[in-house]
Amino acid sequence: MTQKHTFADLELNKWIIRQCATVGVKLPTPIQHNCIPEILKGKDCIGAAKTGSGKTLAFALPIVQKLCEDPYGIFALILTPTRELAYQIADQFAVIGKPMNLRHCVVVGGIDMVEQGIQLTKRPHIVVATPGRLADHLESCKTFSLSKIKFLVLDEADRLLSGQFDEQIKTIFKNLPKERQNLFFSATITDTLEKLKEVSNKDFFYYEAPSISDAVTVEQLEQLYVLCPRDVKDAYLAQVIRDFRSINEDGNVMIFTNTCKNCQVLSMTLNDVGFENVALHAMIPQKQRLAALSRFKSNTVKMLIATDVASRGLDIPTVQLVLNHTVPKVPKEYIHRVGRTARAGRPGKAITLVTPYDIKLLQAIEEHIKTKLVELKVDDSEVGKIFTQVSVTKSEAYLKLDEGDFYEKRLINKRKKWILDGLDPDEEEAKLLKKNKRKKHKKKSETK
Ligand code: ADP
Ligand code: MG
Repeated sequence: MTQKHTFADLELNKWIIRQCATVGVKLPTPIQHNCIPEILKGKDCIGAAKTGSGKTLAFALPIVQKLCEDPYGIFALILTPTRELAYQIADQFAVIGKPMNLRHCVVVGGIDMVEQGIQLTKRPHIVVATPGRLADHLESCKTFSLSKIKFLVLDEADRLLSGQFDEQIKTIFKNLPKERQNLFFSATITDTLEKLKEVSNKDFFYYEAPSISDAVTVEQLEQLYVLCPRDVKDAYLAQVIRDFRSINEDGNVMIFTNTCKNCQVLSMTLNDVGFENVALHAMIPQKQRLAALSRFKSNTVKMLIATDVASRGLDIPTVQLVLNHTVPKVPKEYIHRVGRTARAGRPGKAITLVTPYDIKLLQAIEEHIKTKLVELKVDDSEVGKIFTQVSVTKSEAYLKLDEGDFYEKRLINKRKKWILDGLDPDEEEAKLLKKNKRKKHKKKSETK
């Protein structure tokens, strides 16, 4: 049998181990005990393990240890694909680094750029950033420098290297020193990561958690599907939630769907039929997104409706049920979504709604995870009873959205256009607000 490893075995400083213990982190997870010693030795590292396996501390602990040997800013740069993840990573650094007064800065869109720029000039030890905003800073001002960083971390590396962020990453890499330690972490291994191994000219350490290809076939995870006609899907969804609530009144539920609009409409519909929930998608301003997430995390609201923006890496430990309102188009995305449940040894359930049009997608997923999903039968007569209510409520939700009750319609269209143009909707909105304010101010002073 494998012996138990402790953090002390990994040659971490005592105060770091103590700091971990204060947040209930007492024994290293496999990715931690495999990667931390190698990182401390100075090696580059590529680590792959499923969501929830503790990848953040696998890089944060050795970075903090090295930082306290020679503290200066900016010491490490962490890149991650989403804003929520950036905050989550920064939080972990803040907890671990508290005794050494670790300074960190989160650089993401949707937050005032000037204020952020000022924070960056104060030379934080750790910068946690999404690529877009950091690249903007690097292109617009040179009041801070990344030329001395010791560590570069790509968290969710496969997503960062999937092509979507190429331009920004190029800009960022141009500003980094050649001599640095690279740490790449991800839940799924893809061709990008394989390529990464080839190009890494330094001696790197590679760790892949066993059986990553069936990362979701954890024993405690029950994977089910419900076959339903497309037009009645939402009523089936409501019935599945009802059935779940009848046996688990307090359970937290996360529902995934495909687009921002569907997410918003579904959230409004379910709220109106009595399932209180919050929504998380890219068209919601950043501040509200964080607020929604914290209401869910603090258990104030027990249902979160999200697009895939939320499927990666977010640490929401108490989800009992993941519901796929739409079948993910890519099997990998399925793994990420259902990775929200059955974390850290707890039992969990994932139910996917499948229409006759989705059978191929379902088969692709089953092939990928090497597991057959089990059919869950839902009582048709119960579905029939709620069908009218759900579909009327849904039409009303569409109407409300179009009338601009929730967001001003013009703004939602603007945000849509910004997203399609590849711009950051939060940033553009902030610019617009500023411009309007200036205009108002000007008018006021003219009338004086
Ligand atoms: P990943 O990035 O692999 O998805 P995270 O780093 O977000 O996982 O960690 C998931 C959760 O597990 C976090 O709440 C974290 O605090 C907790 N955690 C990490 N390492 C340990 C550990 N060694 N023991 C107990 N909990 C841990
Ligand atoms: Mg992570």
